Formats: sequence, structure tokens, C-alpha cells
Amino acid sequence: MKQRKIPLRKCVACQQMMAKRELIRVVKTPSDEILIDLSGKKAGRGAYLCGKLSCFKLAKKSKALDRALKQTVSADIYDALEQDFIKVEDEFIAGKEAAVDDEE
Ligand SMILES: [Zn+2]
Repeated sequence: MKQRKIPLRKCVACQQMMAKRELIRVVKTPSDEILIDLSGKKAGRGAYLCGKLSCFKLAKKSKALDRALKQTVSADIYDALEQDFIKVEDEFIAGKEAAVDDEE
């Protein structure tokens, strides 16, 4: 059986390397919108966070997204993202379970 490499990404909040599917992608689109990208396929500069609200809160506190996206992220945007993060958390966990045997 061929061993496939799991793509790893680093959580911008806790700096842990994790399999890509364990992480939630936040993207800065070409039109400078900052949003959560559950598909992981949106164009733009991406930053990854563990699928945990605690990591989002850490990123907010340390302004990790500002650094990762190379742009000032206002408190309003962090608040909006936090609301979205809470909303997608369940969906993300469910999707992750469904995707267990689905590489790439
Ligand atoms: Zn993390």
C-alpha cells in the first residue's frame, strides 16, 4: 500500500503543525474581505486555525490573523469571524468525521 503524505499546516494561534483537515482556513480574498473558508479552496491569502474556539480567541488576543494575513484586522472583523467560527464549528467537526477516508 502506498503511503500518502498528509499535508500539514500550522495553526497561526498555537503554532502547532496539524493535518490540513484539522484546521479551519481563514482567507483574505482579492477584494480584501476576511472570511472563514470551509471549502479551503477560495482564492486569496490563507491562515489556518485549529477548529477550536479557544484557538480563535487566542488568535484574536495575539492578533495572529493580522500577522498571517499581512493586514490590520479590526476588532469588528474579529468579532464577526468569531460568530462565524462558532457557527461553522459543528459543521466542521461533522465534515471532518465524514472525510476520514477521503484523502484530498
Ligand atoms: Zn491552534
